[in-house]
Amino acid sequence: MYAGPEVKTSPDFPIPDQMKAWILGNPGELKLGEKPVPVPKRAEVLVRIDAVAICATDLEIIDRGPPASIQGGLPFNKNFTPGHEYMGTVVALGPGVDEYRIGQHITVEIHAGCGQCKRCREGMYTACLNYGLNYGDVDKGHRANGFTTDGGFCEYQVNNINTLVAIPDAMSDEEATLVVTAGTAMYGLTELGGLVAGESVVVTGPGPIGLLGVAVAKAMGAAPVILTGTRDNRLKIGRELGADHVVNVRNEDAVEAVRRLNGGKGVDFVVECSGAPNAVNDAIRMVNRGGKVCLAAFPQAATAVDVAHIVRNNIYLYGIRGEGKSATHRAEAFMSQKRFDATKIRTHTFALVDLPTAIHYARDRVDDAIKVVVKAKGVAAHRVSAE
Ligand SMILES: [Zn+2]
Ligand SMILES: [Zn+2]
Repeated sequence: MYAGPEVKTSPDFPIPDQMKAWILGNPGELKLGEKPVPVPKRAEVLVRIDAVAICATDLEIIDRGPPASIQGGLPFNKNFTPGHEYMGTVVALGPGVDEYRIGQHITVEIHAGCGQCKRCREGMYTACLNYGLNYGDVDKGHRANGFTTDGGFCEYQVNNINTLVAIPDAMSDEEATLVVTAGTAMYGLTELGGLVAGESVVVTGPGPIGLLGVAVAKAMGAAPVILTGTRDNRLKIGRELGADHVVNVRNEDAVEAVRRLNGGKGVDFVVECSGAPNAVNDAIRMVNRGGKVCLAAFPQAATAVDVAHIVRNNIYLYGIRGEGKSATHRAEAFMSQKRFDATKIRTHTFALVDLPTAIHYARDRVDDAIKVVVKAKGVAAHRVSAE
């Protein structure tokens, strides 16, 4: 029978002892197995995972390892369950938890910092100085589910209460999985200074973070918002999410187009979400003098950057990791107020047992897939929707 010291449960949400979980073996190899349902400790709850979205970072972790770090090293053959963009229902409370109630719908952000290092104290818990130190006798209490601790490609997971975001019951499971993606875009704009109303913003790369970056920038009052990319179907979604202009970089030079669209001087902010090899050099030419560039994606290989242009023009570069400073809560506020419809980027839903097929759709962009969601409960074991 499921129990732990001072853990509160409810007969309304019976919890099994064992659960289904996808486990990472060798690179690229996921196996469906069984694990004990984890037990929440102090400041933690048990979440029944109702839906989880697949992120490009999951594919990186499954195929190559980083940025996951399990027991200080690569995540392969360590009984590790990846997946980090999930939502669900609180079904058990650890000792002393009264911030959430059993039955409450929540979505999660990823990083629970150690809470005791300099960066955590500054709200920069995604840059925790004790990152990944959460095992054996180096346990600093840090968790980044799906990166340094077990994640969401399973039926239940423990989460620190600091990583929970309450959601209205009216928000669909699929939409709730996208809050953290919007939160990442929000964090990027926060780090650029946050005063975006009336400022010009370019988003490069219409992946999930880029598309929701457009939506968040527009909701914050940025004008104009310009989106650049290579796929017309994604640029079209960008327009629906609030882009004033879109530029297909296959048809015209992105830097020239951006400068032309904003009166020749360049824009105030660029949020770089493409990871293209020349993206930084393009971004520093899209911004005006004194402009700011947020780097939210990166290429596999190191690339040459025109430092002289950056220095001569007083350009600021920010590397951002994840979704710090409670940006996820601000993103959720926009979404629950229906300031934009994040579900425009969700293209497919599969059952949890069909995770390999779902990953195939996400990785190979089958059927123009953008965001692919996997649902644990109440979903038949086949593809259930696509549009
Ligand atoms: Zn992600
Ligand atoms: Zn920390």
